[in-house]
Amino acid sequence: MSRFTGSACHQCRRDSFREQDNKREISKLMLKGDRCFTDKCAIERRAYPPGQHGQNRSKMSDYAVRLREKQKAKRIYGIQEKQFRRIFAEAGRRTGNTGDTLMQMLETRMDNLVFRLGFANTRREARQMVSHGHFAIDGRKVTIPSIVVKPGSKITLRERSRSSKKFQENLEVAKKRSMPSWLELNAAEFSGVLLGQPVREELQLPLREQLIIELYSR
Ligand code: SF4
Repeated sequence: MSRFTGSACHQCRRDSFREQDNKREISKLMLKGDRCFTDKCAIERRAYPPGQHGQNRSKMSDYAVRLREKQKAKRIYGIQEKQFRRIFAEAGRRTGNTGDTLMQMLETRMDNLVFRLGFANTRREARQMVSHGHFAIDGRKVTIPSIVVKPGSKITLRERSRSSKKFQENLEVAKKRSMPSWLELNAAEFSGVLLGQPVREELQLPLREQLIIELYSR
């Protein structure tokens, strides 16, 4: 499966800016974990989109606004176009609000849950950890980051990976963070449970999924 291997900050700068009423709004995609909160963040140093015309202030077309919103979602969750389209199509087939279902499907991916539980600093790191076989769902080893986890499932760091300093350090930080209401972390047992479906209002993401629906409905 292909994956993007270029600079995350470049992608982030590409999609973090929005022209609104002649003002440039910034909502960072936060793809680099702790670095995003420091002055090493590329947006803190260059607060404009990348490229030769990055500093120009041209009005975006309606299509460009929708396209950027979809790109943002792909960047945040680290998903390629083909896979994102597949997830969107599946969300559209299910009953209920397509936008909410889309967000739930993205949020309950295995790599995202490993990140949300605090085993990894970023989704990119979580993806690598899952594909290297460090985790199990309900006792069964998994290596596919895109698996959609069902509510009630228990995610566990496998026995042989528990001595790794990386996981222990990440979990120490995670213990101090507040967990979303649909997740429960048991740091002492290196495990977490998906209690239910994610609630959109609690997801603090700079995404307007309605625009993604409008893009794909054209
Ligand atoms: Fe974006 Fe984080 Fe890179 Fe800053 S450090 S540009 S917020 S990914």
